[in-house]
Amino acid sequence: MKSTILVRYGEIALKGRNRNVFEQQLQQNLKGALSMVEETAVERLHGRLLVTGPQEKHDQMLSRLKRVFGVVSLSSVQRTPLELDKIKAGVGELVAAALPGNKSFKVDSRRSNKDFPYTSPQLNSEIGSFLQQTYPDLEVDLHNPGFTLFLEIGYEEAFIYLDRVAGPGGLPVGVSGKALLLLSGGIDSPVAGWLALKRGLELEALHFHSFPFTGQRSLQKAEDLCRRLALFGRRVPLHEINVAAIQKEIKDKCPQQLAITLLRRMMFRLAEALSVERGLGALVTGESLGQVASQTMESLQAIDASTGMLVLRPLITMDKLEIIARSEEIGTYDISIRPFEDCCTLFVPQNPATKPKMAALLKAESELEIDTLVREGLESLKSRVIRP
Ligand code: ATP
Ligand code: MG
Repeated sequence: MKSTILVRYGEIALKGRNRNVFEQQLQQNLKGALSMVEETAVERLHGRLLVTGPQEKHDQMLSRLKRVFGVVSLSSVQRTPLELDKIKAGVGELVAAALPGNKSFKVDSRRSNKDFPYTSPQLNSEIGSFLQQTYPDLEVDLHNPGFTLFLEIGYEEAFIYLDRVAGPGGLPVGVSGKALLLLSGGIDSPVAGWLALKRGLELEALHFHSFPFTGQRSLQKAEDLCRRLALFGRRVPLHEINVAAIQKEIKDKCPQQLAITLLRRMMFRLAEALSVERGLGALVTGESLGQVASQTMESLQAIDASTGMLVLRPLITMDKLEIIARSEEIGTYDISIRPFEDCCTLFVPQNPATKPKMAALLKAESELEIDTLVREGLESLKSRVIRP
């Protein structure tokens, strides 16, 4: 027996000429999500996708498909030929399985194929009377039905089903381009990454460490977070850069209340250099307005001024509690709260500037060999690909 799942998508349909690109990407992403399940296929229909696979793998398929961005809803469907009698037979079978405990129902028909000789209201009434004849105890209840029988008349066949499961919405990963996620081991940046994936960005991740001042645990965390994110998109290349030497230079040569902003500016320069090399079009960070001293408007502006790149901050208006709730939902919270040494918590100044002045930053940076530090930072680059 084959199991068939109808996949609906929303925003894609709005995208006019790009529609084909989006559908292809979604199809490819659905195939990717099912790559571990044997004998599955993903076909494109008119404005829908149809996934088929072995019946015994149905639940596994559904749970994977539910995570694919761009999917608005999913239904397990039964397919029948476009003939009223065959549709009725299929409905009879499907309802036999759903009947126990249900005394009332309604029929909800939709006819995409206008060549089919029955209109939607006619179908509702045909199928409704057929069900009442077959199961005399069943009543029609349009307002509070025990179950709803959905019928969709397509171009080649009809689909009947009893429910819809919500998908995550958003856009298929890949349609918006590629970005570099600045991934610390904290709670925020993985959530920012998930939201970026949700808007169709394909991600690579960059983690800064301060080996030997930070240890293996922070690298392991970054890897585990990437693995989790990969579950929602596809493989995530993870890059690691050592900023210990940069931090030491800043500590030795610059005013300590500017240290965090200066380090951030160096991180952005390194991130930009890596993005150019990898063809990535934006940086994504977990910054949220006002959360800490380095996330005031003035600090963010000072940090942005170090790069010409587009910087996306999906969490900018979110409260910490909202971010935590999301991280629990997507399964990154438990990884994020593991104890670890963050490179930023080393050398933390007592009183970081909340309104760093550009002139003061530039003066402090004139003491640093910026180009050399960036080049040496890049020499420490290590990369690997993390798969779910
Ligand atoms: P997070 O919970 O993501 O660590 P945070 O609230 O601790 O965020 P900061 O430490 O100020 O905030 O970092 C702000 C952002 O800068 C992070 O969300 C992340 O995008 C980036 N960032 C900070 N530290 C690192 C790091 N070690 N490696 C890569 N990116 C980092
Ligand atoms: Mg942090």
